[in-house]
Amino acid sequence: MMQIFIPLNFLGFVYREMKGALANIEKMFSLLTVEPAVKDRDGAAELEIREGRIEFDDVRFGYRENREILSGVSFTVQPKQKVAIVGASGAGKSTLFKLLFRFYDVTGGRILVDGQDIRSVSQESLRRAIGVVPQDAVLFNQSILENVRYGRVEASDDEVMEAIRHAHLHDFVQQLPEGVETLVGERGLKLSGGEKQRVAIARALLKRPPIMVFDEATSSLDSKSERGILESLREIAREQTTLVIAHRLSTVVDADVILVMDQGRIVEQGSHVELLAKNGHYATLWQLQQQERTAEARTAVTQPL
Ligand code: ADP
Ligand code: MG
Repeated sequence: MMQIFIPLNFLGFVYREMKGALANIEKMFSLLTVEPAVKDRDGAAELEIREGRIEFDDVRFGYRENREILSGVSFTVQPKQKVAIVGASGAGKSTLFKLLFRFYDVTGGRILVDGQDIRSVSQESLRRAIGVVPQDAVLFNQSILENVRYGRVEASDDEVMEAIRHAHLHDFVQQLPEGVETLVGERGLKLSGGEKQRVAIARALLKRPPIMVFDEATSSLDSKSERGILESLREIAREQTTLVIAHRLSTVVDADVILVMDQGRIVEQGSHVELLAKNGHYATLWQLQQQERTAEARTAVTQPL
């Protein structure tokens, strides 16, 4: 069977499209035109994954000339580390991920994976090594089982079930009328943002790429979904090099290193405890979020549904 390894959900969508599972051609094309293509070099080598180390070395980038979005970003993610990136909206966090996937090429500096400049390897091999849990996971109009299996199409049912359990999706699935066979998506059950994200986590766990990128949902999840996602994330981070964009700081407390971004630069880095002690950007963000949480809790008590 032909296999498509590019681990992006929109391509997964296209893959299913080709298999005739559903027809929503308009959506398919709008998804395909999102990012401009970067070309492989002639005779580009295959990325050789040894440990899963990521290095950004003085990376500069702008989507357009005269407007620099990243102004010299350097950091290293050691193999199997969990590194979180936090910072205000517009700081350049998602841009870092887009560059790591090589949706765009850097305009200065370089990005290395296990010592190899990502511009020198094939995009296919690069993307095969990286799993993504996006903010807005795309689900197909198929069963939960099939949606998870997309992570590795040749996986057995047992392996898929194990991934479902590890993604803490099992309790939820058990309540459904047809369990893992329940159809989801436009013609089936509508899942919440948190549930969709856990389907994406299960996919990623099934794929087990050496590098995981996790873009946390901005939409506020209830605390139960958040706990589920936190546990799943810990599961992922144990075995793999993990990069997390965190909107909620509660998900980064246990990260090995937290990078704080502001206007295209890393302005602080350290562990949660170290950064609180610095009393800078991170400490301010943390205090703000604690206040929001207290306010939310108060609203919940005074305004029962
Ligand atoms: P963050 O993820 O931290 O919120 P982004 O990396 O998405 O920030 O964006 C950083 C900056 O780059 C923002 O000013 C944003 O408007 C700009 N930007 C993001 N994507 C594009 C794009 N495709 N074309 C032009 N500008 C973009
Ligand atoms: Mg973003």
